[in-house]
Amino acid sequence: MKISPNRLDRSFFMHQEEYEKKALEILRSGWYVLGHEVTSFEEEFAAFTGARYCVGLASGLDALWLAFRVLGIGAGDEVLVQANTYIASVMGITINGATPVFVEPDAYYNMDTSLLEAKITDKTKAILVVHLYGQASDMAPIVSLCQKYHLRLVEDCAQSHGAAYDGKMTGTFGDIGCFSFYPSKNLGAFGDAGAIVTNDEGIARAMRMYRNYGSEKRYYNKVVGANSRLDEMQAGLLRVRLSHLEELTEERRRIAETYLKSLQNPKLLLPQTREHCSHVWHQFVLRCKERESLISYLAEKEIGTIIHYPIPPHLSEAYAYLGYPKGSLPLTEEYADTVLSIPMYNGMTAEEQAYVIDCLNQF
Ligand SMILES: *Cc1c(COP(=O)(O)O)cnc(C)c1O
Repeated sequence: MKISPNRLDRSFFMHQEEYEKKALEILRSGWYVLGHEVTSFEEEFAAFTGARYCVGLASGLDALWLAFRVLGIGAGDEVLVQANTYIASVMGITINGATPVFVEPDAYYNMDTSLLEAKITDKTKAILVVHLYGQASDMAPIVSLCQKYHLRLVEDCAQSHGAAYDGKMTGTFGDIGCFSFYPSKNLGAFGDAGAIVTNDEGIARAMRMYRNYGSEKRYYNKVVGANSRLDEMQAGLLRVRLSHLEELTEERRRIAETYLKSLQNPKLLLPQTREHCSHVWHQFVLRCKERESLISYLAEKEIGTIIHYPIPPHLSEAYAYLGYPKGSLPLTEEYADTVLSIPMYNGMTAEEQAYVIDCLNQF
């Protein structure tokens, strides 16, 4: 049985009629960028997260760099960020000229909050917390440090749509929550899309200005902005998916529970969930010391896997200039050498999952 790490077609066909009806409606409407669908999506997504405002953008990376831009964080400023993240989190900081200060992860793949305070200097302006693989980070200590040191708090929720800490949605703990709706995300569009959520009216207003060339009134430009507008097609299709997100998340949770219950192989370290930190299982990430042989064994069985991520940002060529040598973030590097994401997608059948489990248990 051939099994891909992800199957985006499955969740499309689950609600095919609704997507096709919406797409036709938008094609026939004659209005394609920043319109009724975008406004409605922004209202619905704000309500979903419990934030007061949502501003639709063109991508998750735009959400991140525009967040720091709007907060006025740039050259000479430091931002604490976990080291084992997708490189976009770090680019959101460095595009503005600010310096990322890497923090090692905990056993749940999120920021180790016990290491944060020692890293705060008088240049530290913000914490960027990433709810990696779909699990909410341990927010209480992060929020109290931000209050104590007057730091801004930005959340990278590109993998955590609907994940909550103590019942409160990720994205709503600090100044700005940044979301990506890249097709493979839990709330995926059919192309690139992103958004921020915030409770601050000024931030929402600034973000609307920045996403449209820095203008509030057409052809009157207040700041040097970006073209990061969300289009009607993505917004409309996202509205359809958002209306089903709870059931889609439930399905991912069932798949994850089956893996956790049925995978029994001492060579595999299974992911853990921290109390109070709900998980939406963007990825099911296990660890294995013999990862290379596991990957080729699974490939022989026609089971696809992905490494999230093989090279941590501090060791990537792009960030050689930061000067972090190999060995400087040992746990991050160990995770990069051992993590493996196994197939996890909406519409995965019980047969497919049973086959993956059998193969993994026989490894
Ligand atoms: C996907 C992702 C992003 C970037 O989102 P894009 O929409 O691809 O720009 C940022 N951070 C994390 C953690 C991601 O997984």
